[in-house]
Amino acid sequence: MSGDLFAKVRAYESYAFRQELEAQHLLPYFRVAEGPPTAVTMMGGAPRVNLGSSNYLGLSGDSRLTSAAHQAALRYGTSVNGSRLMNGTTELHLRVEEAVANWFGEEDALVFGTGYTTNLGVISALVGDGDVVLCDAADHGSIVDGARLARGRLLAFRHNRMDRLETLLRRASSTDAGILVAVDTVYSMQGDLSDIVAVTGLSRRYGARLLVDEAHAVGVLGPDGQGVAALARLADGVDLRMGTFSKALGGSGGFVTGPADVIDFLRVQARAFMFTAAAPASGLGAALAGIEIARSAEGEERRERLATNTARLRVALTELDFDVAPAPVWENGIEVQTPILRVPAPDDVTAARMWRFLYDHGVYVNVALYPAVPRGQAQLRLCVMATHTAEHLERVVDAFTVLARKLTVRPAADLVAG
Ligand code: PMP
Repeated sequence: MSGDLFAKVRAYESYAFRQELEAQHLLPYFRVAEGPPTAVTMMGGAPRVNLGSSNYLGLSGDSRLTSAAHQAALRYGTSVNGSRLMNGTTELHLRVEEAVANWFGEEDALVFGTGYTTNLGVISALVGDGDVVLCDAADHGSIVDGARLARGRLLAFRHNRMDRLETLLRRASSTDAGILVAVDTVYSMQGDLSDIVAVTGLSRRYGARLLVDEAHAVGVLGPDGQGVAALARLADGVDLRMGTFSKALGGSGGFVTGPADVIDFLRVQARAFMFTAAAPASGLGAALAGIEIARSAEGEERRERLATNTARLRVALTELDFDVAPAPVWENGIEVQTPILRVPAPDDVTAARMWRFLYDHGVYVNVALYPAVPRGQAQLRLCVMATHTAEHLERVVDAFTVLARKLTVRPAADLVAG
């Protein structure tokens, strides 16, 4: 008799930890939003200060983007009903590609349905039999999945350990395998930066090609919001940069930008581009408006406010003795305020209770529990927005102040009653 594939469904349904969280109303996932992910979002019938969205510049929900999405849908319809290759390319797709290439000072760009499919398509098209992908252990799942889909070998090095990367590069370069190094520039759970200077130097030294994922940096960091490679003045040393419109830029869809011949190859070889419907016009209309704002003086002001807000929250949480990492420091001694703050929790159940306590106090945050993070590394993740006001941040700090007191003077079990 063959095994039943659905047996794992029953095992999951009876997964004791999940049941325990559900029974206590502690399951932090699939919370329903009743409006756009703005600084304060309606959730569960009440307004919550939203620290659980990557809407870093606060552009999602902005009436200019909503109107651009509306206009794009009126002009091109609600779906392109097909893949870019056959029938899913509109003028808008080309305009967005031109805008991205122009923004990053690259020869060309390609727009995908999402950031996820961008990494899937780029990596699996470029990496073939016998080739090697080297990635940081904290890289986004889309890099890992792209590398798995590719027929080459995937080797991960310990997070930000450049000595480990060099060892893998030395070994791989002693064969005639093609090598792709793929790293996030801002790590989505930790909120720290890749050591892009070292990664670029090592990739060059060992003849590897370098793909960087700027998903959490585009519009947020660097000159003109171009991201971390540009901040490090290393854009020329990086072969391909990818990003998403679905975070700071307030739209949806993903992109990769780089040399014209590589982009052209991807256009006809990236399966995650060719065999799926193109990004709908509404998401791209919003993205184009988002890019325009991100590159304007207003975008610069929003980046400054975002950095100020993040710094303020980081200091306040640190003063409350939450173990938030300090802002990464750039080579010239300047702090880089990535807008993601990681608050470690003692264990999975306490993390879920901390989340619920904050939720009940009008603050929505993200939680990462095992298996999303290694065992013993449960955490809350806070994503700051430029549009959080001083009053919003005060509400967050007030909630964390009560939480800190509860965590020290009472057993965690009391948190929810709070
Ligand atoms: N890369 C990173 C680092 C991300 O955090 C994400 C989204 N969580 C993606 C890629 C995928 O982007 P999208 O949501 O547009 O698919």
